[in-house]
Amino acid sequence: MRSTVAGGIRGLLAVACVSVAAMAARATTAAEAAAPETVAKPGAVVRWAGDAIAFCGRGGETWPPLAGSCWFPIDLLEPEGAVVVHRSVGGAREEASIRVSEYPYPVQRLTIEDSSKVELSSENLARVRSEQARVRPLWSLAGPALFELPLSAPLADLGQAGSFGSRRFFNDQPRSPHSGADYPAAEGTPVYSIAPGRVVLTGDLFFSGNSVFIDHGDGLISMYFHLSSLLVEGGQEVARRDPIGAVGQTGRTTGPHLHMGIRWKGARVDPSLLLGPPSAVPELPIR
Ligand SMILES: [Zn+2]
Repeated sequence: MRSTVAGGIRGLLAVACVSVAAMAARATTAAEAAAPETVAKPGAVVRWAGDAIAFCGRGGETWPPLAGSCWFPIDLLEPEGAVVVHRSVGGAREEASIRVSEYPYPVQRLTIEDSSKVELSSENLARVRSEQARVRPLWSLAGPALFELPLSAPLADLGQAGSFGSRRFFNDQPRSPHSGADYPAAEGTPVYSIAPGRVVLTGDLFFSGNSVFIDHGDGLISMYFHLSSLLVEGGQEVARRDPIGAVGQTGRTTGPHLHMGIRWKGARVDPSLLLGPPSAVPELPIR
């Protein structure tokens, strides 16, 4: 893969959202000031452990705890500032604050030899839009959690994850930030489901190539991109560690690797956080 990293460049998003952060700071009340607080990067997941939690929530949305804790996924493009979350314990409402840091990920410049994957024809643009319309409803799937944390590795030999969150330039043109983790692997390496679930979409998509999307309940969707072959089809139930396909380089890619993406309650989060020990996940202090 040809890539250069120019680290430390603050994203435009973080700059644009200063006013949002300032508003959130002004809205902080004395009660909230005493509430537990932690700092998290965009794309992180924050755990708030406790006893006898009835439900967890953010804004008007609520959901049951998982393994005794509330888990708050923070979207990769969550603006810098305070996110107030809550939970219900013994009939009492408790609040906490997650301070989302400025966008911390570096710029990455990639060269794609097939320029039709960078400068889209009107036909390809229409294809991408129709694929996005098929994928988007998956982010609001809900149902009981079928998984446990940590999730199991999608490769037998899982190397270091690369480039989650990087701000990407393809052939010097700015594109969306990288919302998954890239794991180096040779073409043909078996890829496994990270948890039990149901395959909700498969196919050859314009950017992600041969792709598998699996619904694991609790709004958690795993994605496996650029595969050389698929072993599952839509509607199929899979168990943890079931083979679902093989590593490849289909779609827009600079070489064979596994792109692993996770959306949890719609938020793009860093898969490596959920594949490792739960102790690696940022925590709100227990009170
Ligand atoms: Zn990728």
